[in-house]
Order: sequence, then structure tokens, then C-alpha cells
Amino acid sequence: MSRAIPDSPEILVVGGGPAGSTVAGLLARRGRRVLLVDRATFPRAKPCGECLNPGAVAALDRLGLRATVEALDPARLSGWSVGGRWASAEAEFGSGIHGLGLARSRLDAALLEEARRRGVEVLEGVRVESVDSAAEGDCSRPPRPRVRLRLGDEIHELRPRVVVGADGLRSRVARSLGLLADGAPSGGGGRISLTVRVRWDDGGAPGSPRRRGRLRVRDGVTVGLAPVRAAHAGAPGEGNLSVVVEAARHGAHAGADPLGLVQGALLRALPEERLHIVDGPWASGSFRRPVQRCWAPGVVLVGDAAGYFDPFTGQGIYRALRSAELAAPAVDAALADAARSNAFLADYGRRWAEEVTPGRRVQKVVDAVMQRPWLREPALTLLGPRSLASIIRITGDLLPISSLWSLSGVPDPRPPSTHRPA
Ligand SMILES: Cc1cc2nc3c(=O)[nH]c(=O)nc-3n(C[C@H](O)[C@H](O)[C@H](O)COP(=O)(O)OP(=O)(O)OC[C@H]3O[C@@H](n4cnc5c(N)ncnc54)[C@H](O)[C@@H]3O)c2cc1C
Repeated sequence: MSRAIPDSPEILVVGGGPAGSTVAGLLARRGRRVLLVDRATFPRAKPCGECLNPGAVAALDRLGLRATVEALDPARLSGWSVGGRWASAEAEFGSGIHGLGLARSRLDAALLEEARRRGVEVLEGVRVESVDSAAEGDCSRPPRPRVRLRLGDEIHELRPRVVVGADGLRSRVARSLGLLADGAPSGGGGRISLTVRVRWDDGGAPGSPRRRGRLRVRDGVTVGLAPVRAAHAGAPGEGNLSVVVEAARHGAHAGADPLGLVQGALLRALPEERLHIVDGPWASGSFRRPVQRCWAPGVVLVGDAAGYFDPFTGQGIYRALRSAELAAPAVDAALADAARSNAFLADYGRRWAEEVTPGRRVQKVVDAVMQRPWLREPALTLLGPRSLASIIRITGDLLPISSLWSLSGVPDPRPPSTHRPA
């Protein structure tokens, strides 16, 4: 790993999660000089349910990354079982369609390595302290952002032509530029998560039917369990157990005894599961972090940095990949035609908002129903496998939101829309 910071990269990508490594690799493949920095050293843990929904699997395919991920031997996810206190329902994504379960430490390291292979210069252990887009420029020479980086005790300044903020939920890039909604980080959402790595006591013997994720919600506690590594001869199967709690009710317990909280939640929600914790816990929260817009002169935001709502429906990795897919051509066009740079970046911002806004509304409705027992329990009883299957396909980014019309029995008045590669 080189420790020298290059003087003038064309593009600086901040953050080497799925959004950052994907957008960096796409831009390098277009012949751009890309430097990616991350404050962490990979492989690094990331609190996450570690499920790639079927939309994310399709995105990996379009982006030429599927083989890289399949080489890690991920677990296959066929659908979800969702339960409350009394009622539960199960559904499959559909014949021949699946999601993937995979440890984020392995997924993110492999995607970052692929970005390197595509020509991206990667520097780990480098933290971005601030970004300022208001540098000098005129119509033909648009402003260059000014970036302050910390490498050990040293501070460096860089002037790339474009900065891509892919620095996650608590994006320093978004905050520096005042792009967060209401001008300040929101503490709203009020939830925190604890994630652990588990192994099944029976070793997860081949043939044991652990292909569905399981989600249980009761008393303000959500428990998710999904396989992330299939069992092979000799090697036990592994899973991800994530517990999300309301901070006001459970925050003190989570702080004082996180493992006790996880074990208690598991026993209450999924008493039939025989498993033990082998790593973690990793904590995260709170989650709600909306942005006003995801671009500024010379800067775009992708992935969680471009706005985040809640982990409940597990769509974050899909959105990281999809925002990278949309941002790469916009950044490339902005560099090719400096006079219209802002127009290209603004167009990305508009397209991303159009794509993500309807899905956020569905997320909010699903969340509101699941957190209210008087709505959740009847809904789980009445929905039936077909309706639940439609919902998990919509939140699995397989079906467009307009499919909700067919769920309600009303014909969809709009033409079908599909995602085309950008
Ligand atoms: C509890 C929980 C469960 C979830 N479950 C799922 C799920 O099952 N499926 C799903 O699809 N999504 C899930 N998500 C969401 C998913 O984890 C995120 O949406 C996804 O990681 C976003 O990827 P990203 O590349 O935008 O950001 P990240 O993966 O967070 O990567 C950001 C990177 O930026 C780096 N960075 C941050 N600040 C700086 C800085 N100042 N300088 C340099 N580098 C910096 C970090 O080190 C990090 O490597 C979950 C989230 C949580 C919290």
C-alpha cells in the first residue's frame, strides 16, 4: 500500500464501502484518474444485516461485479419469514430469484480490491476532515473543491476536479457542505442496532433449510437472522443476527450489557434457534439522516451519504450500487464538459431523488405498520403469502413501486418501468 498522497487526482472518492468502490471502479474503467481514500483499513467490520436483496444481485450483474461476489461463496436467500407477537407470514422472492447473505468485511474488501484491479488508486487509513466546494472559478473554469485529509499526524490539502462523497451514514462530505436536511445532522429515528456473528449449534449441516431470512418485531425490538455463509463439509454455517431497539426504551441496557440485550432478544423472538455468538457486537445508530440534495458544485454524494432512512427493509446495499451506477456517467460528463459540470451533477441529483423517494415512502409505511402491534398483527394474518411476496419483491428492488396498485386490486394506470443500466 502506497502512503504518498498524489498531488492532483481528477476524482477523489471518499469512502471504500460498496458505493465508493463501485463508483470509483466505474470511473476508472472510463479512463479517469481516481483516488479513493478510506479512514479504515480493510477488511473492516460494518454493522449491517448483510443481506443483498435480489435488486442488488441484479445490479452486481449489470456492473460486472457478480463474479467477484459469487467467488466469496455467499449464502443464497430465497425469501423472508416476518413475524410479530402472535402472527407471522412467509414468502419467497420467486422462482429462480434470490438474494445473497455475505459478511460485509468480505464483501467490501473484495469490491475494493476489484476497484484497485480496475485502476483505482486506494489509500487506506486516510480520513477526510473537511470539504469546501466554494473555491475560486468562473463559467469556463468551474470551482475545484478543496479537501483536507489526515494521514497519521499530517494534514494534506487536495484540489481534485470532482469529489464523490461515499462516506456513509455520518458523511463528513455532506456535513462540510451543509447538504444535510435542516442544515444539521438529525438525531431522529431514535433507534440503535447491535449486530453479532452467530454459528448454529448443529453446525448448519448441509441440507438444513436455512435459506430464508427471519425477521421478528415485538415490544419495540426488531430481530433479524440470516445466513451469511453456507455450511460446507467440516466448516459450520454462519449467520448475522441484528437487533434494532428504540434508544429511549433500551438505550441504557444496550450501553451497559449489549451481549445480554442481544441474547435476551434472541430468546424471546426466536426461541427455537440453537445458535451461539462468535463475534461482535457491532453497534450503530441512530439512522435517520436525510439530505436536502446530493450534489454541490464539484461534488456528488452516493450510497448512505446521499440520504438514509432506516435499515428495516434492507435496501441500503442496492441503493449504494444503484447510486454509483447513476453517478459515474454524470461525473464523467461533468469532467468532459466543464462549462456544464453543474448541470450534469444536478441531473444526477434529480434522477436519484426521483428513484429513491417513492421507495422511501413505502419504507415508511412498512415501518409504521410493523412498529404498531394493532396494525402489524392483523396485517400479518390477513396479508397472505401472495401479497407478502409482492411486498418483499418491491422492497427487494425487484418490482417497481407501481406494483402496489395490483396488490390493492386497482389496475396500474402507469406504464411499467424497469432499471436500465446508466
Ligand atoms: C443495523 C443495520 C442493518 C442493515 N442491514 C442491511 C441489509 O441487510 N441489507 C442492506 O442492503 N443494507 C443494510 N443496511 C444498510 C447498509 O449497511 C448501508 O446502506 C450500506 O453500507 C451503504 O454503503 P455505503 O458504501 O454508502 O457506506 P458504508 O458501507 O458505510 O461505507 C462508508 C465508508 O466510508 C468510510 N468513511 C467514513 N467517513 C470517512 C472519512 N471522514 N474519511 C474517509 N473515509 C470515511 C468508512 O470507513 C466506510 O468504509 C443496514 C444498516 C444498518 C445500520
